[in-house]
Amino acid sequence: MPFKASFPERWRFQASVLAPVVFSLLVTAATVSTFLLWSTADLDDRTLRHEYELAEHILAEKLAALPHDQLSVANWDDAFEKTALQFDPDWVHKNIGRWMHAYFGHDRTFVLDEADQPIYAMNNGHRVDVVQYRADEATLRPLVLRLRTRLREGELVAYAGGAGNAFPNVTGITRLGGLPVIVSVSPLAGESGRLTRAHGEEFLLVSVNDLDAAFAKDLARDYLLEDASFSRLPSFSTHRAQYPILDMDGRIAGFLEWTPNRPGATMLTRTGLALAGGFVFSAILVFLLLYRLWRSSSALEQGRVEAQHQANHDILTGLANRARFDEMLGRAMIARRPPTEGIALLMLDLDRFKQVNDTLGHQSGDDLIRTVAQRLSNLTGTRDTLARLGGDEFGVIHHARRGLADHLRLAEKMIDAIGKPFEIMGSEVFVGVSIGVVVIGESDTDRRDIARKADIALYEAKSAGRNRAVVYEETMDELLQNRRAIEAELREALRRTDQLSVAFQPLFDLKTGRITGAEALVRWTNPQLGKVSPVQFVPVAEGTGLIEPLGEFVLRTACAMGARFPGMRIAVNISPVQLRNPRFAERLFDLLIETGMQPTDLEVEITEGILLDDEDVAAGSLRTFRGAGIRVALDDFGTGYSSLNYLKRYPVDCIKIDRSFVSQLDDTGSSIAIVQAMVTLAHALDIEVTAEGVETEQQRSVLTRLNCNTLQGYLLSPPMTQPEIESLFQRAYAPQPEPAPV
Ligand code: C2E
Ligand code: MG
Ligand code: MG
Repeated sequence: MPFKASFPERWRFQASVLAPVVFSLLVTAATVSTFLLWSTADLDDRTLRHEYELAEHILAEKLAALPHDQLSVANWDDAFEKTALQFDPDWVHKNIGRWMHAYFGHDRTFVLDEADQPIYAMNNGHRVDVVQYRADEATLRPLVLRLRTRLREGELVAYAGGAGNAFPNVTGITRLGGLPVIVSVSPLAGESGRLTRAHGEEFLLVSVNDLDAAFAKDLARDYLLEDASFSRLPSFSTHRAQYPILDMDGRIAGFLEWTPNRPGATMLTRTGLALAGGFVFSAILVFLLLYRLWRSSSALEQGRVEAQHQANHDILTGLANRARFDEMLGRAMIARRPPTEGIALLMLDLDRFKQVNDTLGHQSGDDLIRTVAQRLSNLTGTRDTLARLGGDEFGVIHHARRGLADHLRLAEKMIDAIGKPFEIMGSEVFVGVSIGVVVIGESDTDRRDIARKADIALYEAKSAGRNRAVVYEETMDELLQNRRAIEAELREALRRTDQLSVAFQPLFDLKTGRITGAEALVRWTNPQLGKVSPVQFVPVAEGTGLIEPLGEFVLRTACAMGARFPGMRIAVNISPVQLRNPRFAERLFDLLIETGMQPTDLEVEITEGILLDDEDVAAGSLRTFRGAGIRVALDDFGTGYSSLNYLKRYPVDCIKIDRSFVSQLDDTGSSIAIVQAMVTLAHALDIEVTAEGVETEQQRSVLTRLNCNTLQGYLLSPPMTQPEIESLFQRAYAPQPEPAPV
């Protein structure tokens, strides 16, 4: 049976193991990814900050570079000469304009005279018409004017004077043609101090460096600013970093843009993937481990549940066992709701189960029990408890609305269901069920007491002929007490010699009227109980095992007597319990040898019960007896329901027609017909007939007419003591002149 985890068990596992593991996995994953995101973002942030600083530094460097470049030509005697003294455009182009373009990469160079008029212009390394200056003049003019002012103030003289004064210069960022440019203006002054002009009237060198694509390309190369570019307007792309370039007045002249380095993001994509993979892998691993843990804990749980089930259930039928039944009975008693609901305990015991088990084997016995369990469980309600209490015993705790009537209806249904044939290993088997019912009253609080009462009722059902239900009554308890007292006293009586004796009731040949023998009948006189009838104490002895010593006592007495009167037939009643004992035959032969009685003088009286109960054992023993010459008589013939049938199948020498038939021979013709049929049938099978309990002359005459063989009854003689029968036998031995009329 594959194990299915029950809902609470699964829930317990999820709550105690799965949830914490999943929670810690998620917390770990969240912590690691948060830390990773934070650290990579932080790394990107720092890198960007660094790149900003770099951009700032680059611009500062470029701003510082331009005046420095200019200084190399501006502070030069030759340049002063070729511009202010004797303007030589070719020289100027070669040594200033082109040179500055080629060497420093300046985009444009202008030379202005003392009136700020251009005398030379260079654009992109080419000498161009000075009118080109006009296009930029408006933008450049403020810088030019600022320098003029400072020159007028004698800054150049201060420089020539040394003392660490800087060469006069005005540098700044401004916007030309929409793009930011770096402009630097320096005076053209000889380095020797020979060549000078009035303050403020120097020729000026103007250099312009465009912050354009070419410039950006250099930046990208020199400073590793990826895709660096300059733009007029801010970019809205989140992938671009931009640094605002401020002009001399602090206004935004343009932007330096680049694609920022994102080592964090790169790291995140690389490690993140590996980390996610690792996480998925470890999650799978953890879940696999959990699955195995769950499987093994399920197996443990399954083991526990199975063990619990086994502790509470019968393995063969799967029904509750005795322990569980007891527990359920306790619960039912606590939970019952009188008067709306009644509870009864039904104790069931199969009839004839032992024979099925013995004849068809244990496997068949098991099959039968299983099928019985199935049939019974079809009849019980959901609130009822059906249990197998052991062997062929079942118990039911039955809840019913209408009390006893309902309990009995269930019992009847059960008797019907079990009475139907069972198909066991290809053969049809019949069993019955006896049921003891006890209605649980409000005063019943002791479970053991209730079970005891049910047992008593069951015992009564069995004694009353089986296959029926008997409801417990208080009087049964008295009967039981009685039986208990009988048992105790009988046990005692068997230990001593003064209470038990054997009476003998003579048997007479009907035709000759001669005594042919006697039936041994046990007698018991007890000081407390008085004379106790065998009808009372024999069943008790049978039920308690006392029948063995009791039966042996009777047999020994009877055989001892028989030995002394050879030819006299001594009949001894043998209980089915004795006959069932496989060693009984052996014991009987021992006694015959011990006492010296002729086996042919012994007649064992058996009842139909033994044939019903243990066909094979009985038939076997009977054959053994007959083989040894012992006669077999079927006692109380006609009281069982299959008498005639058995006669054909089992070897008996004699039938004893029961007193109940003989007593009716006085009144009706129908009884005569019945007895007539019995006699005819027996004779046809070569079986002798004894009539028991003959009390009247009328009975005797009918029996004579019916051709009975032997008579027994008060009319002829009651049971008598041993000395009495002995003297009767003695007299019978004496030679008779002629047969006495009977
Ligand atoms: P049973 O074997 O059918 O014995 C005949 C019973 O009928 C005897 O009763 C006997 O006293 C009684 N009886 C004989 N003639 C008459 C009569 O004309 N009228 C009436 N009303 N009764 C008559 P008892 O001795 O009380 O025994 C009763 C039963 O107890 C016996 O019935 C037998 O089944 C059993 N029993 C007696 N002794 C033994 C014994 O030693 N062993 C066993 N196993 N059973 C015994
Ligand atoms: Mg008898
Ligand atoms: Mg009898």
